[in-house]
Amino acid sequence: MRRILVVGGGYAGFYTAWKLEKRLRRDEAEIVVIDPRPYMTYQPFLPEVAAGSIEARHAAISLRSHLKRARLIHAAVTRIDHASKTVSVLPQDGEPFELGYDIIVVTAGAVTRTFPIPGITENAIGMKHVEEAVAIRDRLLDAFDRASVLPPGPERSRLLTVAFVGGGFSGVEGFGETSRWRPRC
Ligand SMILES: Cc1cc2nc3c(=O)[nH]c(=O)nc-3n(C[C@H](O)[C@H](O)[C@H](O)COP(=O)(O)OP(=O)(O)OC[C@H]3O[C@@H](n4cnc5c(N)ncnc54)[C@H](O)[C@@H]3O)c2cc1C
Repeated sequence: MRRILVVGGGYAGFYTAWKLEKRLRRDEAEIVVIDPRPYMTYQPFLPEVAAGSIEARHAAISLRSHLKRARLIHAAVTRIDHASKTVSVLPQDGEPFELGYDIIVVTAGAVTRTFPIPGITENAIGMKHVEEAVAIRDRLLDAFDRASVLPPGPERSRLLTVAFVGGGFSGVEGFGETSRWRPRC
């Protein structure tokens, strides 16, 4: 039977596998989804998670609950060899292994770019994953708590100042969502 291999169970990968499950007969193809995360991250909700407007679980869609037929492998693909139609798979536990495919769908997404901006890598938090949105929320709440006992001055100001690097969709929506806290500071 043909094997359709989906690399990355994020937005594009999840929907690809979901639609294939609906359109293909069981004996037509095996669908395999490989992702180190057991859930699809609904990234449009991450600014709301960062602002504490919704809970983290609302931005995570379980692959196992929604993909009934696909074989799910929780691992990272580290290499794709189109010549031999094989991928190298690195599971969280256990030994790396190779897996063949007939058709491959590469939907491994994107990473937050940090450019050579001093301090960004060490201090900033991206907004592509649920864990990052939760980390932003926790850091903000922690800063607010610490500022609440300080008199006006540079340290309090520093704790109550939030900088978004990048004014694209994530930056603007993140700014807008977290601004709801501003009047309380
Ligand atoms: C804050 C924010 C808000 C957004 N709001 C909107 C919006 O309102 N409307 C809109 O249309 N779009 C929005 N987007 C954009 C949209 O979310 C993305 O375009 C979409 O998620 C991209 O889908 P994708 O499948 O390419 O990547 P992702 O959804 O990022 O999925 C990639 C998947 O690949 C997995 N992966 C990564 N490396 C590997 C590997 N080596 N092996 C196996 N798996 C791997 C990851 O774990 C992940 O699950 C937003 C994005 C962000 C960050």
